[in-house]
Amino acid sequence: MIGRQIVLAARPEGEPKESDFALVETEVPTPGPGEILVRALYVSVDPYQRGRMSEARSYAKSVALGEVMTSQTVGEVVESDDDRFDPGDVVVGQLGWQEYAVARGSALRRVPPSVPPTLALGVLGATGLTAYFGLFEVGRPVPGDTVVVSGAAGAVGQVVGQLARLAGCRTVGIAGGPDKLADLTGEYGYDVGIDYKADDVNGALKAACPDGVDVYFDNVGGELSDLVLRRLALHARVVVCGQVSQYNNQTPELGPRLLGLLIVHRARIEGFLVTDYAPRFGEAIPRLAAWLAAGKLRYREDVTDGLENAPRAFIGMLRGENRGKALVRVAEPG
Ligand code: NAP
Repeated sequence: MIGRQIVLAARPEGEPKESDFALVETEVPTPGPGEILVRALYVSVDPYQRGRMSEARSYAKSVALGEVMTSQTVGEVVESDDDRFDPGDVVVGQLGWQEYAVARGSALRRVPPSVPPTLALGVLGATGLTAYFGLFEVGRPVPGDTVVVSGAAGAVGQVVGQLARLAGCRTVGIAGGPDKLADLTGEYGYDVGIDYKADDVNGALKAACPDGVDVYFDNVGGELSDLVLRRLALHARVVVCGQVSQYNNQTPELGPRLLGLLIVHRARIEGFLVTDYAPRFGEAIPRLAAWLAAGKLRYREDVTDGLENAPRAFIGMLRGENRGKALVRVAEPG
């Protein structure tokens, strides 16, 4: 059997191009003892993949040239030599941008039939879990706090704002463009939305956070974050989730050096990785699912059709073209 894959063809300089990827056809491997063959339904499109395309040192190894692009994938079990999985089961794992993958059972998580498969990549998958652990474990909001979120209309940001609201906080979301601005207050319940492409961000933040920012959940970094750091409240917590504005930079961008503000406000700034919380995913997923079922958590998905269009979806997502969680539909359930 032949399967299609998207492999890394070249290491991008600056913004990735479609020619940095190649669509190839290969023979699908036969699963060995203890292995499972999975047919992809949806693959995920995420900012961290830009880091994997680079050789720069990071928390995970780079994708090699010619290797399948890494991604979370939700798919159907086709063949299984593991008693825990049967053909037809829906599973999620780091299986890459490819139609078929062979994996060990320990690398897969089962998705219950009651859960739409896309949610295993979104609110009930890595992005929802990032929002959950980043906000609750690192941001530690308390009722009455003002929580500011950058990248607030994105996959992670849309969940952070709603969780902060459920925790009794005032929420201020920052995103780019009129459609996303409408989603911030209309769909995701932010108290205030700021369009960083059109508004005077400094003035808008000052008006929205008269008592300062207690929690800043940062998905973006760069100049936007410099402006938020100037508005921290006493004992503020800055959650460094992502720095998407910097991912295409060839050399680090130097900005104003604002760490003195951490002294002034006795603030804490902390980076985190969602995968460090993997042993606790089982505690978070039922809570997120309960909020979803109760209609307290809303979400948008931005689905592109066809594995061959994954590079275009990825480049578009880094440009801000996605409205909600970026996904690529590879196949319909069989
Ligand atoms: P996303 O927000 O759905 O998509 C990326 C968004 O980034 C774009 O839609 C765009 O939104 C924004 N963006 C791009 N360039 C920008 C710039 N120069 N300035 C401001 N905004 C810019 O992506 P996501 O999956 O939810 O990821 C959000 C962040 O979380 C990323 O930084 C990612 O690396 C991080 N993350 C971290 C972890 C972890 O474990 N630490 C896990 C998952 C994700 P606008 O249209 O609003 O500009």
